[in-house]
Amino acid sequence: MTSFQDFGLADPLSRALKDENYVTPTPIQAQTIPIALTGRDVIGIAQTGTGKTASFALPILHRLLENRTRPQSKTCRVLVLSPTRELSGQILDSFNAYGRHIRLTSTLAIGGVPMGRQVRALMGGVEVLVATPGRLLDLVQGNALKLNQVEFLVLDEADRMLDMGFINDIRKIVAKLPVKRQTLFFSATMPKDIADLAEQMLRDPARVAVTPVSSTVERITQKVLQVDHSAKPAVLAELLKTESVNRALVFTRTKHGADKVVKGLVKAGIPAEAIHGNKSQNHRERVLAAFRTGDIRTLVATDIAARGIDVDGISHVINFDLTNIPETYVHRIGRTARAGAEGTAISLVAGAEELGYLRDIEKLIRVALPKEDRRTPGQHRPAPAAPQQQQRPAAPSAHGPRRRRRPGGGAGAPQHGRHDGHRNEGSRHEGGRHDGGRHDGGRHEPARASHAGKGEGIQGVAFLHRESRPAQNRGQKRRPQRP
Ligand code: AMP
Repeated sequence: MTSFQDFGLADPLSRALKDENYVTPTPIQAQTIPIALTGRDVIGIAQTGTGKTASFALPILHRLLENRTRPQSKTCRVLVLSPTRELSGQILDSFNAYGRHIRLTSTLAIGGVPMGRQVRALMGGVEVLVATPGRLLDLVQGNALKLNQVEFLVLDEADRMLDMGFINDIRKIVAKLPVKRQTLFFSATMPKDIADLAEQMLRDPARVAVTPVSSTVERITQKVLQVDHSAKPAVLAELLKTESVNRALVFTRTKHGADKVVKGLVKAGIPAEAIHGNKSQNHRERVLAAFRTGDIRTLVATDIAARGIDVDGISHVINFDLTNIPETYVHRIGRTARAGAEGTAISLVAGAEELGYLRDIEKLIRVALPKEDRRTPGQHRPAPAAPQQQQRPAAPSAHGPRRRRRPGGGAGAPQHGRHDGHRNEGSRHEGGRHDGGRHDGGRHEPARASHAGKGEGIQGVAFLHRESRPAQNRGQKRRPQRP
């Protein structure tokens, strides 16, 4: 088995890995690090939780150390693009953790916070800049940042960036970068539009991937409660009272829905908070910190807001609204059962529309989920036939084109141009809503029709713990240090 010593990483990095108690590289690290150390471009299929941050951060830091130069004013040597503020904060934390013995200069450029401090942080130049695309372009256009000195580019969660409508911003950013650079490109899925983007950005990339998501799915106890629409709030409250919940993440389709669910829970005597793109950065950080410490046990989130939240010990994922995107279901339930732990995922399914979504999900995961019928008798039609009788391992790339169901459109409703309501909610607002009236998505073309129906496989491996770092230590509090 590969060990970190086999990579020949610089001594300060090896020491940092010891501090972090990393002994064995994860599969994505074992595959990516040796290649990235040679300077070659890499395209990696991996989800958050697989250790992918270290797989790009370590070789980049090693290569920075091989040629340590002081960055010029208003420039960076490493540019990491990530779709959300939360994920950006976590990536920067990781760079700083692995770079703790080298006095790394690093900073964040994310939407949702005033720009002044970011402008000042960039004034003297930094080695590592982690950014969301919209804010990065604002800084470039405001002459606070030049991208002509970038030596390393990382694009993280490329599929999510596309979903969020960042494609044009990314193209604009890439056009400003030096052609001679190393690019490391990561995505959880690899549909054709992501592969096309990678093709344009990478030169002769090595391809790495980790094993299918089925291993994660199989560790999770999944069940479906068929309920009446109007009964969902009461059923949720009952579940949270009766199940032995350590931490529960409740998913709703819309921000408004998340707020409504929180109100209902609080009324039922269950403390809960919502996290979504309409909430201020401060609120999000405070709520997340409380969720990590266990002060809040129930967090209600939209999909985009939940992406990038990295909290261990989530015992339950509850789908208050079922998603119309089967892959999103897998992402959602993957929030529990991390680091080899067991987890429970419960979906509240109401009406023909959600039953249709459920059928698509069961097809993707190749599991007929156990169903309990809690609907009012006499007001419903029989449950749909399950596609498979028993659990089988997923064959990730083998499932052919899948229909994306549009909320309100019914099964197989045609998808015309614009994204569905679910994506719309996230793509327009989550990237940087509080950005002085603009948000990261402000310049976006409409997000493309979603890509997941094009036969891509979902990938993932057993998820690792990410130890919680206090939110107040993140992002804007961080000042660049001189090398
Ligand atoms: P990531 O997928 O990069 O978000 O990493 C998920 C979590 O795994 C983070 O908390 C990392 O600190 C942790 N981690 C990454 N690599 C290793 C490793 N080789 N051994 C133990 N933990 C790791």
